[in-house]
Amino acid sequence: MQWQDVLADRTARLKASEIRELLKLLDRPDIISFAGGIPDARLFPDEAFRTAAAEALSAGSAAAALQYSISEGYRPLRDWIAAEMGRNGIDCDADNILITSGSQQALDYLGKLFLSPGDTALVGWPTYLGALGAFNAYEPVYDQLVVNGNQGAADYRARAEGHGGRVKFAYLSADFANPTGETVDLQGREALLDLARDLDIAIIEDAAYQALRYDGAEVPPILALDIARSGGIEHTRTLYCGSFSKTLAPGLRVGWVCGAREVIGRLVLMKQAADLHSATFNQIVTDRVARACFDAHVATIRAAYKARRDAMLAALARHMPGGVTWTRPEGGMFIWVTLPRGMDGATLLARAIEAERVAFVPGRAFYADGSNGNTLRLSFSCADAATIDEGIARLGRLIAHEAA
Ligand code: PMP
Repeated sequence: MQWQDVLADRTARLKASEIRELLKLLDRPDIISFAGGIPDARLFPDEAFRTAAAEALSAGSAAAALQYSISEGYRPLRDWIAAEMGRNGIDCDADNILITSGSQQALDYLGKLFLSPGDTALVGWPTYLGALGAFNAYEPVYDQLVVNGNQGAADYRARAEGHGGRVKFAYLSADFANPTGETVDLQGREALLDLARDLDIAIIEDAAYQALRYDGAEVPPILALDIARSGGIEHTRTLYCGSFSKTLAPGLRVGWVCGAREVIGRLVLMKQAADLHSATFNQIVTDRVARACFDAHVATIRAAYKARRDAMLAALARHMPGGVTWTRPEGGMFIWVTLPRGMDGATLLARAIEAERVAFVPGRAFYADGSNGNTLRLSFSCADAATIDEGIARLGRLIAHEAA
């Protein structure tokens, strides 16, 4: 069978994520890994999940938990999310929310909803690898989103037309982005809304890490600012992608997208066609756990991750040679390191695993144009302070050696 001859053109851009391939190599216990951007499993609220699962499967409840359900998602969970969004300045109700199988599915659906081949998606340089992966299937052109930059709408529009399409959306993680850990300030969010208005495009706000702030002042979500400007959620252009993956647990695959009903309705039809609905049981369990302990649990993990972030920043200051710089995130799971010019993160990783038994993700994969190879992403979510110090000491030693 010549599979290549029967595959759709769009499959040409599907490729294995560098991170996933890498994670497979990292089971070896002697390697200190800062590679996987995953929550620490030791912090999962597993007791609350056990209780919730038992209740969901009890005699009176099992039939509903095991049955098909509506594509929009489990109503009590959407009500809980709408109330939670309200606390973040996003005045909405359950009809503004679609439950998805992780926020990753929302990114796929939004790519499918907006992008025809050759259309332009604005993304940061660098950006979340999984977003590029989700959008790639719809064959977009990427252009660099510079918030607060000197590019006007006309520049973006002209480039998009040059590629035979139009700009459809700007995608970003405004809080503690993956991979940089950086946050877009209020002025940047307002500037982005101006740009989106001038281009008349959607904004996809990836809020996967928004709840994980460790210090600094909270900045309103872009959707909240959009609502304030436009006079209500039904008039907004922002689609907010939320997730329980970083706050409760990623294995149940429960996320959501929130926005104007006109768009949510179309996404509901997409969900219906793709997988009917997210797992009923998982939604019910998530609802019960969120109601039982969301705030207390988020406070617990914030404290744990904050200590690890502090440990990694201190270790970087202690062990990195001159010429290396890094971000100082106010939340999330990542620190982004820029190596001396000419040093390549991917080459360094091979040496790091072999010679120093330490791992990270090379930065190049996060650039839609494959540029800036002298960068890398470190995740501090899964290691204790002593391990972080040891791993960063190993990495600093290697970089100093390679730079010499
Ligand atoms: N957005 C960002 C920025 C992420 O880092 C991740 C997970 N790594 C996701 C979305 C997807 O998360 P999930 O599908 O588990 O909600």
